[in-house]
Amino acid sequence: MAENQLGGQQYMVLPEGASRLLGKEAQRTNIAVGYAVASIVKTTLGPKGMDKMLVSELGDIIITNDGATILEEMNVEHPVAKILVEVAKTQDKEVGDGTTSAVILAGDLLKAAGQLLDQGIPPAAIIRGYEIAREKASAALKAASSDISISDDDKLARIATISVGSKNIGSDVTKKYLTKLAIQAIKQVATKHDGKVMIDKDFIKLEKKEGGSIEDTQFINGVLIDKEIAHPGMPKSVKDARIALLDVALEIEKTETDAKIEITSPEQMQAFLNQEENMLRQMVEKIAKSKATVVFVQKGIDDVAQHFLSKQGITAVRRVKKSDMEKLSKATGARMVTSLDDLTEEDLGFAGIVEERKISGEQMVFVEKCKDPKSVSIFVRGATKQATDEVERALTDVIGALTSAVENGKYVTGGGSTEIEIAMKLRESATDIGGREQLAIQAFADAMEVIPKALADSAGMDPIDTLVQLRSKHKADNGRSFGIDVYNNKIADMESLGVIEPLKVKSQAISSATEATVSILRIDDMISSKGSKGPAGAGGMGGMPGGMGGMED
Ligand code: ADP
Ligand code: MG
Repeated sequence: MAENQLGGQQYMVLPEGASRLLGKEAQRTNIAVGYAVASIVKTTLGPKGMDKMLVSELGDIIITNDGATILEEMNVEHPVAKILVEVAKTQDKEVGDGTTSAVILAGDLLKAAGQLLDQGIPPAAIIRGYEIAREKASAALKAASSDISISDDDKLARIATISVGSKNIGSDVTKKYLTKLAIQAIKQVATKHDGKVMIDKDFIKLEKKEGGSIEDTQFINGVLIDKEIAHPGMPKSVKDARIALLDVALEIEKTETDAKIEITSPEQMQAFLNQEENMLRQMVEKIAKSKATVVFVQKGIDDVAQHFLSKQGITAVRRVKKSDMEKLSKATGARMVTSLDDLTEEDLGFAGIVEERKISGEQMVFVEKCKDPKSVSIFVRGATKQATDEVERALTDVIGALTSAVENGKYVTGGGSTEIEIAMKLRESATDIGGREQLAIQAFADAMEVIPKALADSAGMDPIDTLVQLRSKHKADNGRSFGIDVYNNKIADMESLGVIEPLKVKSQAISSATEATVSILRIDDMISSKGSKGPAGAGGMGGMPGGMGGMED
C-alpha cells in the first residue's frame, strides 16, 4: 500500500489504467511497431508483388496491392502505425504513386536507427545524420535523373506502364488500354503557364460503376454526372447543347410559403398559388431567354418549374455537386451564374452532346464532345466492385505518376537501380562527414537498399547476392541504371528495359519516410490514457503485432 502511494509521479499525475513508456523503451517499441507495419506491405512491392485481401468489420472485401489502401483499411490504432499511414497518404496526395516504397523505406530507416541506438548512438546524432543523408540522397537522385516532357510519348507510355505494372487489373493489353486513357486525359487537361506545364488532377474525374468489364472503361471528353434528367418530359439527348450552370434554386424560398398569410376564401388561395406559379414561370422564362438548351442546377428544381422547363424543351439536372459544377464549367466553358437576372447567352457553355444513358440500371448524364475541355472524365467499369475499385486505384496511380513526371520534367530508372545509386553516393560521402553522423548516413544507405532487396525477393532471387552484383555494376562505368529485371530474374539495364519512374515519386518517398522516421525517433515518452481499458490488441501501446522479434530479416 505504502509502496503504491509512493509509486512516483506516474501514480499521481496519470489517470487509472494509463500506461507510460519512457526513453529507450519507448523508442524501441516505436521502432518495432513501425517496422512491423512496413513489413506488412513489403511483399506487395513491384509487379511480382502479392496482393492483400482485406475484410472489413462489415464483411466488405478489398483485394489490392496499393500500399496506401492497405494501411488505411487496416484501421491501425498505435500512434506510430498511424504516422506510417500518414506517410502513405501524403505520398498518395502529393504524387499518387510510390506509397508502398515510402512506407517500406520508413520501416527500414527505423530498423537501422534501432541498431544504432543499440550501439549507444544517441537519437540526436542519428537524426542529424539522417537529415544530412536526406539532402545528399536528393542531390544524388537529381544527378541520376534525365529529362522528360509532355511530348515524349514513348517515355510517358513507359512511365504509365511501370506505374500500372503492379496492379492486378487484367492482361497486358488491358493495362495498355488503360494507360492510353490516362495519357489522353493528362494531355487534354494540361495547361501552360510561363512555359511550365501544369496538370490539375482534380479535373480528371474518375467515375466508376460496376458492371460490364474493365475493357469497357472509357475516356470522356467532358464530364460524367451521376444524376438523372429531372423530368421525363425533357429531351434525353441534346446535340450541340448550350449549357447554363446555375447556382440558384428554381424553387420558391421556404420562408415565403411559411410566412403567415391570411387566406379567407378559395379565390384568395387560388390567387396565391397562381402567384407562386408565375414566379416559377418567370424563372424559367429567364433561362429560355438566354437560349440555353441544357441547365445544370446546383440546388433544387420545383416540380412546377420542371414542368415549365420541359414545355420549353429545356433539359435540366438538379442538385449537381459543387465539384461537378466546377468540372462542367472547365469542360464546357460555361460561367456559373448565381442570379437568374444575370444570365445571358455569354454565360453559356458548349458540349457536342448531352445525353442520359442507362448504365447497369441507373441513369447517368454524359456531357461529351466538348471543345478542348480542361476537365475530362474516365468512366471506370469492371465486372465486380473489387475490380472497379482496383482499376480506379490503378488509374489514380498512373495519373499521379504521369502528372509528377510532366510537371517536374525529370525521371529516373526503376527496378531498385536508383536506390542502389543513392546508397553508393551516400556511402562515398559519409566518410567526409565523420563522427557518429557518418554511421547514421551509412545506415540510411543500407535502408535505401530495402527496395532492390524487396524486388529481388518478389522475383525469387537471392536478395543479398543480387545486391552484391548490383553494387559492383554501379561502381563500373555505365552501370548506373542497373536494377532488377523481375520478369527474367536477373540484373539488367533498366533504361534500356524501359523501367522508368518520375523523379518526384522517389524524392517525395525519401522525404516523407525521413520525416516520419525523425519524428518517431524524437519521441522518448509515450503516455497513453487508453492503456488497459481498450479492447485487447486493438489499442494501447502493447497492442501491436510483430514486436522486436519481427525485426530479424
Ligand atoms: P509503390 O506503391 O511504391 O509504387 P509498386 O508496387 O508500384 O509500389 O512497386 C514499385 C516498384 O516496382 C518500383 O521500385 C519500381 O521501380 C518497381 N518496378 C515496377 N515495374 C518494374 C519492372 N517491370 N521491373 C523492375 N522493377 C519494376
Ligand atoms: Mg506504384
